Amino acid sequence: MRLTVVGSAGSLAGPESPASCYLVAGEDADGRTWRIVLDLGSGAIGPLQRYCDPATVDAVVISHGHPDHCADLAALSVLRRYGPAKDQDLAPIPVYGPPGIDERFLQVAGATDRHDLEPFAFTPVHGDDAVAVGPFTLTFATAWHPVPAVAVRVTGPSESGGDASLVFTGDTDRCDEVLDLALNCDVLLAEAGWAHSRVNPEGVHMNGTQAGTLARDAVVGDLVVTHVASWVDPAGTLELAAVAFGAPVSLAVPGAVHVL
Ligand SMILES: [Zn+2]
Ligand SMILES: [Zn+2]
Repeated sequence: MRLTVVGSAGSLAGPESPASCYLVAGEDADGRTWRIVLDLGSGAIGPLQRYCDPATVDAVVISHGHPDHCADLAALSVLRRYGPAKDQDLAPIPVYGPPGIDERFLQVAGATDRHDLEPFAFTPVHGDDAVAVGPFTLTFATAWHPVPAVAVRVTGPSESGGDASLVFTGDTDRCDEVLDLALNCDVLLAEAGWAHSRVNPEGVHMNGTQAGTLARDAVVGDLVVTHVASWVDPAGTLELAAVAFGAPVSLAVPGAVHVL
C-alpha cells in the first residue's frame, strides 16, 4: 500500500499545506486499485485532485468534526453533485467517523436540507469496530480529544508481499486505546499538535515527546510526525520525537509517498 500525504498542517491550512488529509491506495488480488481518504481537512480537496479523482474514492474516514479534519467533505459533496461525476450514477461513498459526523457535515456545508448528504453513506464507528474496504481492513479506536474522535488502523497488501499496517492517530492526547491500536504497526502517523504550546491541557493533542513515546511503547516500524501548525518550525518537534522514539523520525510533508 502507498500512503500519500495530501495535507498535514495542524489546526488550519498553511501556505505550504492544506489541513489534515492522507490518501491510502493499494491493489487487490485482481489488480484493481482501491483508494481510501483519511480526513478531508480545509483546503485538501485541491491537491487531492493531483492524485486521484476524489469523486470516485472507495471510502473516506473522518477522524473527528473539527474543520481541519472534515471541512472539505462539503467540497467533495459539491464535486459529486455538480462536477463530472454527477452523470455517472455513482454509488454513495462510504464515510466512517465518530457518531454525529453526518450532522457535523451538514453544519459545515451550511446545508438547508439533507440533499448535500446524498453523495455519502455515513457509518458511525466506535472503538474496536472494524470494516472492510476492498483489500483493506479499517480498525478503529476511541481517541482522547474535546469532541468525539477516532484513530484508525489500516491493514492491507504490502508492496513487498504479505500485509502492512498503518495507524493514523487523528487528533488525540496520549491514551491507552490509541496505544493498543498502534501496537507493532509498520508506520505510525502520529499527531504532535502541541508544538506551539508549553502549557498543554489534557485531552487535546500530543507533543513531540508524547508522539515519540507512543511510537516507542507501541514498537512501531517508522514514525511519521504530523499536525504541526504552519507557524511552527517542526525541527524541535521532530528532535523531541526522535529522542523519545530512539530512532530517526520523519515529518509528514505534502506530496510525500510512503510505501508500506
Ligand atoms: Zn486538528
Ligand atoms: Zn481536533
